[in-house]
Amino acid sequence: MIKRSNIDNIIVAGKSGAGKQPRIDVLTGEFSLEQLSTGNIFREYMGQFDASGYKGEISQFFDDSAPSGFVPDGEIEDAIRKATGAEGDLSGVVLGLKAKANINAGKFVPDTITNALFEKFFSRTGYKGMVLDGFPRTAEQAQFLIDLSKEKGVSLDLIVLVENEDDLIVGRTVGRRLCSDCGKVYHIEFKPSKDNVHCDKCGGKLKQRSDDVEDRIRSRLQEFYDKVVPAMKILEEAGIPSVVVNGNLEVFTEENVRRSVMEQVQPLLDE
Ligand code: AMP
Repeated sequence: MIKRSNIDNIIVAGKSGAGKQPRIDVLTGEFSLEQLSTGNIFREYMGQFDASGYKGEISQFFDDSAPSGFVPDGEIEDAIRKATGAEGDLSGVVLGLKAKANINAGKFVPDTITNALFEKFFSRTGYKGMVLDGFPRTAEQAQFLIDLSKEKGVSLDLIVLVENEDDLIVGRTVGRRLCSDCGKVYHIEFKPSKDNVHCDKCGGKLKQRSDDVEDRIRSRLQEFYDKVVPAMKILEEAGIPSVVVNGNLEVFTEENVRRSVMEQVQPLLDE
């Protein structure tokens, strides 16, 4: 049983586009946790790369023989400096370039990059109080997280797996739109903004995520079966309890989402 007051971290997993965010909102509210999302972190760095103005071909920096999949950072930095005249620290721009190359191809970002970045952000939280969204996603990341939490003396208390069918996800994801200013998520059919062009909340322009096109979505689904499923198995074998939550409610309301999540979680709580 899990003691509510002892919860350090909850892991939320699911196919990309399964409907994780509304379930994460329930968990952060219910257990007073914050969300830590590797996808959001990568998108922030991609924004830094885009802002650098570099327009050259990214694939010239690929190096399959390196663990990160890229030539040394210095080489990438030199090319960006030369092309854009940028000065100062370019580490965020380089990271954004590496994230973009993988994400836009519908592939996961390599473990060496992801683990280091995750640890950097997780450490800022004191390694607890988080709903981990999108991490871990591979066996190597799962082991890294287990080792890190042991080393820091914090617990991984629960896995919430958001379940949804592949074809439904493809249909939903191609229609997904994000506010380019505040990040609020809409759907052109199921959850449109008033004019389907601007954000209702802040007026920002809505955009489609560059990785939300069908072949990339299918590629991400394959990554889920190949990598995330084994990652979850490692976490479960380490003794972390898991529940499966339906990501496809017939009637989608905040209350229904909350109920469908808590129906699964409540029986594990020792209140
Ligand atoms: P998300 O917003 O969680 O769907 O993440 C967007 C993209 O970022 C994913 O499709 C991956 O390419 C990348 N990404 C996010 N988290 C990870 C991770 N833990 N490991 C590898 N790649 C990741």
